[in-house]
Amino acid sequence: MPEHILVAVAWPYANGPLHLGHIAGAYLPADIFARYHRLKGNHVLMVSGSDMHGTPITIGAEREGVSPEEVATRNHRGFLESWQKLGISFDLFTSTHTPNHTEVVHDIFRTLQDRGYVYKDSMPLAYCPECNRYLADRYLEGECPYCHSPNARGDQCDECGKTLNPTDLIGLRCGVCGASPEIRPSEHFFLRLSEFSDQLESWAKAQTHWRPNVASFTMRYIKEGLRDRAITRDLEWGVPVPVDGFETKRIYVWFEAVIGYLSASKEWAKRNGDSEMWRQFWQGDARPYYFIGKDNIPFHTLIWPAMLLGYGDLNLPYDVPANEFLTLEGRRFSTSRNWAIWLPDYLEHYDPDPLRYILSVNMPETGDTDFSWREFVRRNNDELVATYGNLVNRVLSFTYRNFEGHIPPIGELNASDNALLGMARDTLDRVGEPLGNCRFKEAIKVAFALAQETNRYLDGKAPWKAIKQSRDAAANAVGVALGAISCLGTVLYPFLPFSSEKLHRLLGSAGSIEDGGWNFSFPLTGQALAKPEPLFTKLDEEIVAEESAKLG
Ligand SMILES: [Zn+2]
Ligand SMILES: [Zn+2]
Repeated sequence: MPEHILVAVAWPYANGPLHLGHIAGAYLPADIFARYHRLKGNHVLMVSGSDMHGTPITIGAEREGVSPEEVATRNHRGFLESWQKLGISFDLFTSTHTPNHTEVVHDIFRTLQDRGYVYKDSMPLAYCPECNRYLADRYLEGECPYCHSPNARGDQCDECGKTLNPTDLIGLRCGVCGASPEIRPSEHFFLRLSEFSDQLESWAKAQTHWRPNVASFTMRYIKEGLRDRAITRDLEWGVPVPVDGFETKRIYVWFEAVIGYLSASKEWAKRNGDSEMWRQFWQGDARPYYFIGKDNIPFHTLIWPAMLLGYGDLNLPYDVPANEFLTLEGRRFSTSRNWAIWLPDYLEHYDPDPLRYILSVNMPETGDTDFSWREFVRRNNDELVATYGNLVNRVLSFTYRNFEGHIPPIGELNASDNALLGMARDTLDRVGEPLGNCRFKEAIKVAFALAQETNRYLDGKAPWKAIKQSRDAAANAVGVALGAISCLGTVLYPFLPFSSEKLHRLLGSAGSIEDGGWNFSFPLTGQALAKPEPLFTKLDEEIVAEESAKLG
């Protein structure tokens, strides 16, 4: 029975392009997982979208002198282009700036309000008497109490990286005009998170399949005590509050962006002509997986589940495989210091699969990992090209030349032939098990072990020598090797979709690789090979120095 798998992926802030840290954190693992389940024949719905609201976008827009919508829309288009080039296979990548999203957010807001989980209260907030407005944390500036940088913001100090509250700042001032703000009461709505503490605790405890970091992070939050949180704020850009008298306020991004998973699923259903189809992925046996970075854990294991519990009738997350961070040449990615590799830049100069490869073998699943250009070039040349690409190329070229461009028939197989074929068959399960349990690093290593073994098999058989004595012996060797190679194309497809599709075509197989499913087909006798061409390109060592010079 095919399963229904919801692949819900973190919503990127539409305030700038994505860097490799984002890709390793959420987008690549989600895509690997979705592609695997599609190959298995399961029903997959993979959704996300641009988080169009929030203060980083309004601040960026003010700096540029354009509207927040213009900034967000431009970045949203950039994301769509990157997904296509990197092969991140969303079923729908929408945005939070749609009438559908507003409608779904309002439905959840009103339902939670009717049930008493959302209530109105007054809170003291900073108000600028010169600008005549309440100031969000990011619009407040002052001296950092830790490093004494004069330009720390109300939410964070960029200089030392500490998270701050506006009241921590020394000499608090308005970030727009510099006046000192007054503290005034402001009416807002709150989510009664405290109400769900016990329910969340027993639910979270039962999720024994969660990664240890996700489970411990979540339990620590519950132990510290869940406090009610404001879900509206004084801002003009965002989803309106569906209550009279709140026209100058908007719903807080953290509250509305997580609802995006549901609104995107509903939008996908409508676009597919059956507006109820989203239910297959949110109710009954459907399993929702949320792919996010570790900084987003509490929103996905506590706050969103609390909202779902309050709303009712929708499945809670099954798994939240949050990744740790990727560092760059030993340091944390930093947008403000340009210590980053921007995805559009990468994709302009290099192929998508080498990046997908290095981020997969080096995925920050259980601890932070590092990306360096030296390692990128080394792994591309020594592993992708030497171990896998050359293997494919030499077998395909030899077969193409010596067997009239067709995969020859197989005769009787001996022990070493059967050993390789047995390993290929087992590899499907041995890769599938960790893949299905979100252990991607392990899965790709197991897959690559088949490439290494196929190289050893060929070195032993040496069909290029054997053909001088026996055409049949050479035919058997390439037939068996091509069986293993075709299996590699399948098990590596979730990680390296572009080269797997290419291999599929070079092998003369029909249709798309997804049509063949998560299966091992042998023998491929009689298939007409396409004219061989390399799967990967060797990279010049010089790019290490060139690319490193662009950093910082
Ligand atoms: Zn500081
Ligand atoms: Zn001001």
